[in-house]
Amino acid sequence: MQTLTVDLAERSYPIHVGPGLLGRKELLAPYITGSQVMIVTNDTVADLYLDVVRSMLPDLDVAEVVLPDGEQFKTLECLETIWDALLTAGFNRRCTLIALGGGVIGDMTGFAAASYQRGVDFIQIPTTLLSQVDSSVGGKTGINHPRGKNMIGAFWQPRVVLADTSVLATLSDREFSAGMAEVIKYGLIHDSDFLDFLEGSMPALLARESVALTHAIVRSCEIKADIVNQDETEQGIRAILNLGHTFGHAIENAMGYGTWLHGEAVSAGMNMAVTLSRNLDWLTDADVERTGRILQAAGLPLRPPSGVSTARFLELMRLDKKNVNARMRLVLLSRPGQACVTEEVPESLLTRTIDDFTA
Ligand code: NAD
Ligand code: MG
Repeated sequence: MQTLTVDLAERSYPIHVGPGLLGRKELLAPYITGSQVMIVTNDTVADLYLDVVRSMLPDLDVAEVVLPDGEQFKTLECLETIWDALLTAGFNRRCTLIALGGGVIGDMTGFAAASYQRGVDFIQIPTTLLSQVDSSVGGKTGINHPRGKNMIGAFWQPRVVLADTSVLATLSDREFSAGMAEVIKYGLIHDSDFLDFLEGSMPALLARESVALTHAIVRSCEIKADIVNQDETEQGIRAILNLGHTFGHAIENAMGYGTWLHGEAVSAGMNMAVTLSRNLDWLTDADVERTGRILQAAGLPLRPPSGVSTARFLELMRLDKKNVNARMRLVLLSRPGQACVTEEVPESLLTRTIDDFTA
């Protein structure tokens, strides 16, 4: 097991990463102050891991909420189900919520903890690769609103995160690859040595080998924590975590959300951002080819689906939250392992680059 600390003064917390963490009650006990614990999960994950998590909480007053599985249930209605369960069970301000599941459960449980009686403790047990490397760092919690994803929420930090690599064995290949897109992103934006590691270790990672996975998850969390620490409220540098996301959101939007997984859209989007960086002469052909090789080795797409015109692509990209004025704000690579945010891309070059992917 490896442990990294997300450094946030009095809200600092450890992330434990490694195989076989579920079942080890000593990893949770130090972080539970009262006697009341509510495990929040969904029906898929409950079948797999609820019993073992329950076994980590002896001599405590444990209750459970099992929600339906899916992004479409990241709603006010499900949040109310959690609040109702807490009130019905008579849970007080010293209770602890445990999020057992992927990013949907993590975000929703975190927000329930942030809002119940003005804030109670919560623990994250992320069970997807995406949630282990992304949503467990940064403190963003929330739910969707019919008018927009993640529109209602709060910043709320967990007391501890247990990222058990063993649970990734039951994750589908497609969900695993989608999480890997964000892992590759960290290498591209911040650490070319890490990118080397990913290139060499992709077969071991895809085979879900714990040593390779532990390193990939720890390094991803370190990079995200490092960037978030420099810019907690997203004024500047935190935007580089969105490499490939402006293109990716256009793909998700054009396809209808949920057709492509987020990580799949981000993969094609990162390939487009890297290609645009090359077209600006910031990267070489070899850099583009290498990025493509790594994404492909992870089982990820390099191109958007056919049938989206360049004009539609540009229109959807303009909806991106990062754009503050008329100019498109993009995250690109100034060199491998280093990202930048720019508004200086000539419109003609952007159009020509997208043309090559929509032809
Ligand atoms: P998810 O939570 O929907 O999980 C994906 C699927 O995998 C689900 O069907 C789930 O039931 C299943 N699953 C989970 N663990 C499993 C396991 N170990 N074995 C088998 N199946 C398992 O999706 P996700 O990709 O984990 O998270 C996406 C969500 O995370 C989105 O709502 C997104 O907005 C949010 N997110 C939040 C942040 C943040 O900073 N808070 C960052 C990135 C994403
Ligand atoms: Mg993302």
